[in-house]
Amino acid sequence: MFLQHQKPMTTLLLATRNRHKVGEIRMILGPHFRYLTLDDFTGAPAVVEDATTFVGNATKKAWELANWITNKGLSGCGEVLEDVSVLADDSGLEVDALDGAPGVHSARFAALDTGMEGNSSDTANNSKLLRLMTGIPVSKRTARFRCVMALCPLIQAAGAGSERSWPPANNSPVTVFEGVCEGRILAQASGAGGFGYDPLFVPIGMDKSFAELGDEIKNQISHRANALRLLKSHLV
Ligand code: IMP
Repeated sequence: MFLQHQKPMTTLLLATRNRHKVGEIRMILGPHFRYLTLDDFTGAPAVVEDATTFVGNATKKAWELANWITNKGLSGCGEVLEDVSVLADDSGLEVDALDGAPGVHSARFAALDTGMEGNSSDTANNSKLLRLMTGIPVSKRTARFRCVMALCPLIQAAGAGSERSWPPANNSPVTVFEGVCEGRILAQASGAGGFGYDPLFVPIGMDKSFAELGDEIKNQISHRANALRLLKSHLV
């Protein structure tokens, strides 16, 4: 009788503190993977998202967390893991009538006006977007969500099981997967589900906002779902 070699389950370390993103990623990718989040590690650094593109910011988040983990070691999470990759999501909304804004500034769109550091609330961001789009006709309210997923495998030194060690520098390449979801911006918020700009965004072919459509439909057609479909076919 031959013993079949089973590929160990890939662990994805999700480089985000956004619980909505974590929930969507887990629901979209399903049980093929094991998941860890930043909550499983104490003291993970907050990455400064100062790149001018989603690819730049997603890559920076994945790379910096991968290096922090390889220096620190994975023992903090209390398990022996075989095949681990950091997965970072950088995403946002691009509105055509605003020349692509808020774009990479989606999370801190309102804060840009006050000079305050950090992200602004969803309510403040949505109010600013509605104010800037006052009077713009339906035909010119086109927009898209864009999501870039950056995957950075952790390099593991030779050895078996718990004897394996993690080298101090991570030289793994980062692979990026991009997804978009086209749609339009409503004149007022509608629906209580989702997060961020969901109450203002109606995906193409639908007549309800992401916040009204609910997780099950959103997670089949969203920018995040489209990026993760590519990632899944790369990994599985
Ligand atoms: P990030 O954490 O820098 O990637 O910021 C992403 C921001 O873009 C979020 O804070 C939201 O404002 C917005 N965003 C990204 N994805 C979505 C989504 O699926 N629905 C609604 N807003 C989103």
